[in-house]
Amino acid sequence: MDTCADTLTPVPACALNGSDGHGRTLWGRSFTPPAFTSAWKAARRFAPCAPTTVAFTTGAGELFTLVYDRVISRHTDPIEKKPFFHFRPGSEAYSIATVGCNLRCSFCQNWRISQWPKEHLPKRLEGTGEVQSNEPVCPRLTEMGERIPGEPVTPALVVESARASGAASVAYTYTKPTIFYELAFDTAVLAREAGLANLFVTNGFIGEAAQREVGPVLDAANVDFKFFSDESYRHISRCRLQPVLDAIRRYHEMGVWLELTTLIIPGVNDSDAELADIAGFIADLDRAIPWHISRFYPAWKMADYPVTPQATLERAAGIGQAAGLRYVYAGNVPGMAGEDTYCFRCGAKLIDRYGFFARESRIALDGTCPDCGTIIDGIGMGAE
Ligand code: SF4
Repeated sequence: MDTCADTLTPVPACALNGSDGHGRTLWGRSFTPPAFTSAWKAARRFAPCAPTTVAFTTGAGELFTLVYDRVISRHTDPIEKKPFFHFRPGSEAYSIATVGCNLRCSFCQNWRISQWPKEHLPKRLEGTGEVQSNEPVCPRLTEMGERIPGEPVTPALVVESARASGAASVAYTYTKPTIFYELAFDTAVLAREAGLANLFVTNGFIGEAAQREVGPVLDAANVDFKFFSDESYRHISRCRLQPVLDAIRRYHEMGVWLELTTLIIPGVNDSDAELADIAGFIADLDRAIPWHISRFYPAWKMADYPVTPQATLERAAGIGQAAGLRYVYAGNVPGMAGEDTYCFRCGAKLIDRYGFFARESRIALDGTCPDCGTIIDGIGMGAE
C-alpha cells in the first residue's frame, strides 16, 4: 500500500515510451451519453486538471477520453494490498489501471503513470472546432490516442481475465478510477453480472453524478483521506478537502463498504490535532470503518522528506483508538504488528497478517469472533 493505498511496481519500461507494442490505432472515445455529461461537468468544476490529462474537450464542450481501452497494468494482487482488510480477507483482486490522475500529489509513488499524460501530452487542443458525430474525433485526438501507453483491452476482456485468474473481485486502482471512469463503469457492470465484486481504490475526488451512477455496482471503496486541511489538499494534491469529505459520506450513505487510508507525512499531517480531526470525522460517520495509517516513503517531489517513524504510526493509531474507531491499522511496514485484526469487543486476535498477506484467520464462518461471538464488521469476513 502507499500514497494512494496501492502501488504499481515496476512500471513496464515499454509501456512508458508511448508504444503499446500491438500496432493498434486507437482514437479518443466519445463519452457523451447524458449521465456521463453531467458527471464530467461536475468533475471539471472540481478538478480543472482532469480535462487536460486524458480527457479532452472540443470547442463545443464535448469531452473525450483517451484511456477507455488501454490499461497500463492488469494483474492479480492480494486484496490486502489495496488495502482492504474487511472485505473478503485473504482473497485476490484482479487489478487494473490506466495512465493519468485527476490529482497531482507531490508525494505520488505512482507518479510515472499517474502523471504521464501531464508530462507527455499537450495541455489543450487549439482549433478543434465542431465534431461530426460519426467521425473519428479529430486528427489530433487520434494522434494523441495512439501515444497513450498500455495494453488494449475491453471491459469484457478484463472480466474474462479476472474470472480466469480466480480472483474474487476487480479492483480499479494504482492511479485513480475517476480518470478512467468510463472503462471502470462498463467493466463493473459486466463484473457484477459475472459474480465478481467491484472495488474502487480512490482519492475520493469524484463528481456526485458519477459516484451515484457507479454506486449500485460498487461493492467497496478504499478512499485516501490524505489530510484534514484544505490548504494541504490545495498545495500538495491540487484539489480540495470538502469534495473528498462529501464523497466519503456518499459512499457510506450508498452502502458501499468503506475503508479509509491516511499516509502520514512527517511535518505535514502528523500533528495530534490533524490526526484527531481525521479520526473524529471517521468516528462520527461510523466507528466500524477501518482506518489504515500508512508509512510514507520519500518519492517524486517530496524525495527529501523523511520516512515516517514507527513511533508516529503508533501515536496515530492511539489517536484513532481514542476516537473510538473499532479497527485501526498502522502499516506499510512489513512485520509491524499493527496490521492484524482484533475483536473490538474482547480483544482476541482474529487475523494474522504479514505484509500484504493474511496468513491465518480465526473468524468463524458466520463472521463472528470465536471467543465472544461478536460480529466482525465487513463483507465476507468468515468466508473460507
Ligand atoms: S491521487 Fe493521483 S497523484 Fe495523488 S497519490 Fe494517488 S495516483 Fe498519485
